[in-house]
Amino acid sequence: MESKGFFVKKPDLLHLKTQKLPGGFLAAFLLLLVFLFMVVVIAGKTAAVATSLPAAPFVVVIDPGHGGENLGARYGDLVEKEMNLIVAQAMREELEKYEGVIVYLTREDSDTDISLSERAEFAASVGADYLFSLHFNMSEGQILFGAEVWVSAFDEYYARGHAFGQIQMALLSEMGLFDRGIKTRLSDRDDDFYGIIRQSRLQGVVGILIEYCHLDHVNDYPFYHYGAFQWRGFGRLSATAVAQYLQLSSVALGVDYSDFAVPLVEVPGEIVRPILTPPDVCRLELLEIDEKSRTAVFRLTAADAHAPLFYYGFSFDGGEDLATYEVLEVFPPGESELIVAVILPEGRDLKVAAMVINSFDRKTVSNIIEVAALEVMEEELLTMADDEADIVAEEADNGEIIEISLAEQTQTLMENHTNLINTDTFDAYSWLIAGILSLKLLVLIILISRVLIMMRRRGKRQ
Ligand SMILES: [Zn+2]
Repeated sequence: MESKGFFVKKPDLLHLKTQKLPGGFLAAFLLLLVFLFMVVVIAGKTAAVATSLPAAPFVVVIDPGHGGENLGARYGDLVEKEMNLIVAQAMREELEKYEGVIVYLTREDSDTDISLSERAEFAASVGADYLFSLHFNMSEGQILFGAEVWVSAFDEYYARGHAFGQIQMALLSEMGLFDRGIKTRLSDRDDDFYGIIRQSRLQGVVGILIEYCHLDHVNDYPFYHYGAFQWRGFGRLSATAVAQYLQLSSVALGVDYSDFAVPLVEVPGEIVRPILTPPDVCRLELLEIDEKSRTAVFRLTAADAHAPLFYYGFSFDGGEDLATYEVLEVFPPGESELIVAVILPEGRDLKVAAMVINSFDRKTVSNIIEVAALEVMEEELLTMADDEADIVAEEADNGEIIEISLAEQTQTLMENHTNLINTDTFDAYSWLIAGILSLKLLVLIILISRVLIMMRRRGKRQ
């Protein structure tokens, strides 16, 4: 019953209200509309500004990958979490020389064990615009080499990450490292695969992951094996990349990147998906074989319609097992047919196969070409080589072989790539050598002059 009365009264109330507030209410309502319109316009303008680069001072969080129980990659005496920290500290030191940037580290020592979400939450708590996670790499079968940058697969996070990645990769390949590109990787749930990138995005921070080089590959050995002072070079390099990307200037360093040409990357309309298919073609053809020099010449035909080809290599044992491959070579960009001369091992039947790997590390193995055992010229030499191989195999079981072969191969690498040493990274080293040499020279001069003085005195006495 009560409800009935309510329905009866309602229209009357409304009617009364409109009657009691005529001109005054309309004016107030119009004013409110104008006010609301202005609020929307101003908010829209600030939103438009926020979608371009964030306003200075920039807040940059550097994340030394791993830490605590989480060691990261381990190779010989090297522990990735310790290397990452040294690189990160050097990066902060260098970046703080620039104006208009505030720098934080996610961890200050190697014992701290923090989760990826904690790192991202920390970045958000200090108002970070970017989080750079620093790493060193290793690969299955120890076959890959070079540097790479991983970015988010989503909208502006991708665009900003990719623009920075281009600057970072340009500096790393200038050093001589192989450019493995700027890539995205997705989880089964179609989210960013790398936790630090995913968690950063959840916090509204652009997360970027840098892999400087592969610790377990001979080609990358010259870029890190000198130790901490060389790792700090990576830190300074990344600081420079950030400074160029954010167009910073430094009075202390005497550099001005305010006009630096930052690459333009369009914000993608959909998820930027990685390529998951292997190279389409990998075909091997034996052209000729010279038994005396044990040299075989092959034609390697390879193609990938979706991703660039990065590496190729040969196996003499059918190519199924990654460990049977010789050190991979860089596949020349844009090529589809290579003529390759290969020195064949002697004394056994061979199953020669080639492999090509694309930029997303997808592999395709070629057909197999069987080559009958080549006759050995000197019986004695072969037994000697066999004995040596046994020793090497034993050492391999003890995990020592990599060091030995690396040391030997690095020697030749260093001879071939003396230009590598001609970078900033090696300055401290050269100064040290120069210092020691001049000290030695000084001692020698003192000794000679003393001998000369003594001889003169003797001469006078006589
Ligand atoms: Zn790592």
